[in-house]
Amino acid sequence: MASETTGEKRVVVVGGGIAGALAAKSLQSDGDVVLIDPKEYFEITWASMRAKVEPSVAERMVVKHKDYFTNGRLAMSSAVGVTETHVLTADGESIPYDYLVIATGHNDNFPKTKSERMEQYQADYNKIESADSILIIGGGPSGVELAGELAVDFPGKKVTLVHSRLRLLDFVGAKASKKALDWLTSRKVEVILGQLVDLKSHSDGDKTFKTSTGETIVADIHFFCVGRPLSSSWIKDSVLNEAVDARGRVMVDEHLRVKGRKNVFAIGDITDIPEMKQGYLAQKHALLAAKNVKLLMDGGKESKLASYKTGSDIAIISLGRKEAVAQFPFTTIVGCIPGLIKSKDLFIGKTRKTMGV
Ligand SMILES: Cc1cc2nc3c(=O)[nH]c(=O)nc-3n(C[C@H](O)[C@H](O)[C@H](O)COP(=O)(O)OP(=O)(O)OC[C@H]3O[C@@H](n4cnc5c(N)ncnc54)[C@H](O)[C@@H]3O)c2cc1C
Repeated sequence: MASETTGEKRVVVVGGGIAGALAAKSLQSDGDVVLIDPKEYFEITWASMRAKVEPSVAERMVVKHKDYFTNGRLAMSSAVGVTETHVLTADGESIPYDYLVIATGHNDNFPKTKSERMEQYQADYNKIESADSILIIGGGPSGVELAGELAVDFPGKKVTLVHSRLRLLDFVGAKASKKALDWLTSRKVEVILGQLVDLKSHSDGDKTFKTSTGETIVADIHFFCVGRPLSSSWIKDSVLNEAVDARGRVMVDEHLRVKGRKNVFAIGDITDIPEMKQGYLAQKHALLAAKNVKLLMDGGKESKLASYKTGSDIAIISLGRKEAVAQFPFTTIVGCIPGLIKSKDLFIGKTRKTMGV
């Protein structure tokens, strides 16, 4: 089936993070594309901790969908269900598709407009500026990068980071975790491992926090930096139910097609591809899925579909403006050299260029 108005094949992309945004941009000249995302923008996520200490960065890292997606329709809502032929949204729309690309990554609770999101970053900055002591809950990439930004930009403030696991950054190897821990402690960040902060019994404005072992931490403000859950519940109880694994990931084949489906693809962090969940890999998925959708739209043979080759385990976690810890396949390094790769611009310029903005 094709669109009644344009005669083109109908493509629906669900989720406008970096993966869905790049897929929608790549397909907009080839089909009648609808992008479903609850917000008018996407964020260059890996620069978000810098925006808390320098809110003007948000102007560049928060990108409105309309700036790169100029030849399609944005349905500003959340997908709540999917049938063989339509995606259903929270606003009550039923959007038909010939090809579907699922890119719903993680659930977020961000405001709808860019200006509201920028106000949030400004508010975070104001909070940081007026605090003497700051508690960070969570020692994954967000918590560690925020601690690094604070240690460099606000060295006079007392920063405490509490992580539930026994090592920081448990998505990378133990060497990288240790190097990040040493870097943070050398900058006077207090790191407490293997404990949870009890936020249930904590009330707003209270400056005392209790950990799971009864330790007390006093902090003027806190940031909750625990990873967000995957957003696949909207697919459950739908025709794609069987493609969601026990961890909430969408199972895909080597062509990035959803298990058992010929016209449905999944890309980015939501997939079960056995590799690190990284934005640069999500972009590779988006380009490959777009290529395959185009091939099928043009009547190409299945045997010509491109196959995805799993990415290597490269991760760079910035530690302030000049340094970083990097895990490459054969080595792990900390300091200014990995910092040169990521920490100054945090790939904002590179990502904006990819998106043509
Ligand atoms: C602090 C930090 C640093 C990082 N550093 C790097 C780095 O240096 N390099 C790197 O490559 N990666 C990095 N990453 C990882 C990278 O951010 C992710 O891999 C990437 O953002 C995944 O993109 P995505 O589009 O798959 O998912 P997401 O970014 O999670 O986007 C999902 C989108 O789908 C939307 N959505 C969710 N549910 C629905 C629904 N039901 N209907 C419609 N829309 C929905 C969401 O609102 C969101 O817009 C970092 C991550 C963090 C947190």
